[in-house]
Amino acid sequence: MLSYQHAYHAGNFADVHKHLILHGVIDHILRKESSVTFMDTHAGRGLYPLAAEETSRLHEYRQGVLPLWEGRDSLMGEELLGGWLAALVRAQPDSRRLTHYPGSPWWMGRRLRPRDRQLLFELHPGEHGHLADQPLEGNIRTIHGDGLKGLVERLPVKTPRLCVLIDPSYERKQEYLEVAQALLAALHKARHAVVLVWYPLLPAGRHHELLDAVKAGGVRKVWRSEFRLQTPGRETRGMFGSGMLVVNPPWGLDERLAMAMAQVVPRLGDEASYHGDWWVGE
Ligand code: SAM
Repeated sequence: MLSYQHAYHAGNFADVHKHLILHGVIDHILRKESSVTFMDTHAGRGLYPLAAEETSRLHEYRQGVLPLWEGRDSLMGEELLGGWLAALVRAQPDSRRLTHYPGSPWWMGRRLRPRDRQLLFELHPGEHGHLADQPLEGNIRTIHGDGLKGLVERLPVKTPRLCVLIDPSYERKQEYLEVAQALLAALHKARHAVVLVWYPLLPAGRHHELLDAVKAGGVRKVWRSEFRLQTPGRETRGMFGSGMLVVNPPWGLDERLAMAMAQVVPRLGDEASYHGDWWVGE
């Protein structure tokens, strides 16, 4: 049974990290003319009003997007972060106030060109209902179903290029391995796809199962990006960091993200830290 609802966490530090990378990857992808299919295997609702009951329960966005929003005048000059913040401003019904946080379907879909397409999978019936109610414009399809299965079944795609975000809730322990298996199967059918895989950094360290399985599967060209809000210690409970693998990352993404994160880190807490590396080379 699915119980996770992203509305409780919308706009938190992990969303900032994840969506900044997604935004940067899409910048690079759209520099080329040829058409792209964007797939979001775990789409969520698409847009999160910050005043919603779920979101205001934990107010996680206060240690995520909010400090960046409040500092936006001085951050707009940073190339990647400034572009991301400008987009965030455009997502607000009133551009002076941060009232909504957009999810991955919005970050992916907002710059879709007529020749591109977007496929959004969401398994939770309620969350899919919210997603289907969004005013999504362009060549976008929402699918109520399993995103890992759907991804592999739909490959190869008709467009010359493919960009995939895999962003599960990892409610079940087996999901770490299921994600690795789906990634390997997808790359077998679409070798050049740019695939972003998000994972949480938790005290149990289960993300190592995912990383080990990806490495054992022989995947090449993987860049890893990890953002820690806290230094984990014996007392640490819950998610202390956010990780992302990017398979076939666009050239130059690592440097742009390092510069953006150098601005993000000091605004999100004294213990925050960032590390990006080429996890697996050519
Ligand atoms: N990607 C979203 C974003 O960045 O805005 C957040 C997604 S949230 C972390 C994970 C979502 O995956 C939840 O909405 C959950 O209902 C959904 N989900 C869980 N298992 C799934 C599956 N097998 N296939 C598709 N969606 C699934």
